[in-house]
Amino acid sequence: MGKTTSINLVGRDEFEVIMEVFARCTDDYMFLFDLDKDEYIISEQILDKFDLPGNHFFHAGAVLQNVIYPEDMPELAEDLDKLKSGKSEEHNLEYRWVDREGKIVWISCRGVVIQDSTQEQKTTILIGRITEIGSKRKADNVTGLFAERQLILDFEKFKKDGKYQNGVLLRIGVDNFKEINERYGMETGDAVLKMIAQCMELVRGENDRCYRLDGDEFVLLMEGKDTQKAREHYHTIRILIEEQRKAQGYQNFYTISAGVVGFSYEQTDFERLHSYSEFALSMAKKKGKNCSYVHTKEDYDAYLKSIKIQEKLRYAVNHGFHGFEVYYQPIVSAETGEIVGAEALLRFSSREYGMLSPGLFIPILEESGLIIPVGEWVYQTAMRQSMTWQKLLPGFRININLSFIQICKSDVVSGIMKSIDELGIDPSTVLFEFTESGMISYDDSVQRLLDVLNENQVKIALDDFGTGYSSLAYLQNLRVNLLKLDRGFTSKAVVNDFNYNLIGYIVDMAHTIGMKVCFEGIETEEELEKLKKLEPDYIQGFYFGRPVDRDSFYHGHLEKFE
Ligand code: C2E
Ligand code: MG
Ligand code: MG
Repeated sequence: MGKTTSINLVGRDEFEVIMEVFARCTDDYMFLFDLDKDEYIISEQILDKFDLPGNHFFHAGAVLQNVIYPEDMPELAEDLDKLKSGKSEEHNLEYRWVDREGKIVWISCRGVVIQDSTQEQKTTILIGRITEIGSKRKADNVTGLFAERQLILDFEKFKKDGKYQNGVLLRIGVDNFKEINERYGMETGDAVLKMIAQCMELVRGENDRCYRLDGDEFVLLMEGKDTQKAREHYHTIRILIEEQRKAQGYQNFYTISAGVVGFSYEQTDFERLHSYSEFALSMAKKKGKNCSYVHTKEDYDAYLKSIKIQEKLRYAVNHGFHGFEVYYQPIVSAETGEIVGAEALLRFSSREYGMLSPGLFIPILEESGLIIPVGEWVYQTAMRQSMTWQKLLPGFRININLSFIQICKSDVVSGIMKSIDELGIDPSTVLFEFTESGMISYDDSVQRLLDVLNENQVKIALDDFGTGYSSLAYLQNLRVNLLKLDRGFTSKAVVNDFNYNLIGYIVDMAHTIGMKVCFEGIETEEELEKLKKLEPDYIQGFYFGRPVDRDSFYHGHLEKFE
């Protein structure tokens, strides 16, 4: 230990002036703590944030207790004792204060002990500075947890220390946090974050550390643990949150989702771990929120593939829709077996992936919003094609699928009506199909679309009826012209009496309220014969023809009308 510096310090008043000058040059708070007289002087700015009686006061030990986080008091007291007794002459601690709003603020306090001979009696004083660590983003002032910056540092340190080879990262996100802020206010939002932080702190083990990331996300870094342990922790945190909410009288409601990533230090750098955990949390939210998801390589690779496909789709959209193609599948009259029209079904192919199934790329188009331009291209292409075929088969009807993204996030109805006008197609030969799940939660944009289409004689079908939350009650309100029964439903009816009878009732009911019915997915003669007895109006299925490109459709189904 070096010899304690002894100086003739300027008077306290002059010291205060010097401190204020320094304070203007730094975000830190300068302080002087006379350990013998229990006297404390600190930069005046501190009063903006912390509840102290002034910038110069006595009985410092007692006064400071009002701002120091109680749990950190013993550690601080021990350090000050060492300074007073001369066992140590440097102070360097990171601990917590509580600000005027009750928020926890991590601070770093550093100082040096000097002997002041200016006073009649020599006194021991500590001179130094206090820094808010949070302002350097190593800690978070709302929750009192460390911030992402510290997570990176810790991860690198643990990796270097080599105490454990493996670990697991649990990333927690609040579901619909924006809504909580909007509905209950920012204060409640902060309280929610604090509550989660507390619950995480309660469950964490000795080797675990909690962090708050930006926004509504948290991380629990667990050394030497596996994914099972992380999931257990997640469930315990959920239970604790529920208990806390109950204790607080159910003032708010929220759920949390979690992404879990097991890792080995050797094979993982922080950036990768970060991306994996981001992905894992997004998967949990995609799965419906309020649940956890454990990262797997297969899902992550599929996700990377979907990003690549999205790039290809975007490129195609910006290059004349090259790679997209509309296929057509015949729809026949159930009574005569004659073709009455077709459903337009989108295809996409690329050199790398060949032809992709719509089940794969339509969700990507929807997520990226690309379904808006692509959907427009589909209805224009299909209507134009249909007009050509109407010359061979008057009244030929074209069924076109619409996604709810098109309806809710664009003014699709104006686009449709404009195209119908410009092309000059008879609107009553155009039909738009919607899926049931989106319909049920219909809002203003859906209602407007239905109204405008109805007013203009454009037809509407409810697609894949029977796969979702079939509620017959709302059908009439929607004023839908056609019900399409999904293959999942129709194929069961062939082997199951209950389903068979149920479909029979649905057909009768639909007819009673003036709707037509189309059975989808009829593949065999046996299916056809049995289901025809239920008297649907139309049938669509591989039995009558698979979806094929324009030329094949013409040769297969329309050439005979030339
Ligand atoms: P969807 O509208 O219900 O179309 C019928 C789907 O059933 C088509 O699948 C069709 O190939 C298939 N299918 C028809 N008959 C049979 C059969 O007998 N057996 C079996 N197993 N399947 C049959 P596809 O072409 O793969 O399309 C899947 C879904 O993708 C469509 O279901 C539709 O929801 C969506 N989709 C296709 N094109 C578009 C589009 O242009 N826009 C939008 N928004 N969605 C589209
Ligand atoms: Mg359809
Ligand atoms: Mg369908």
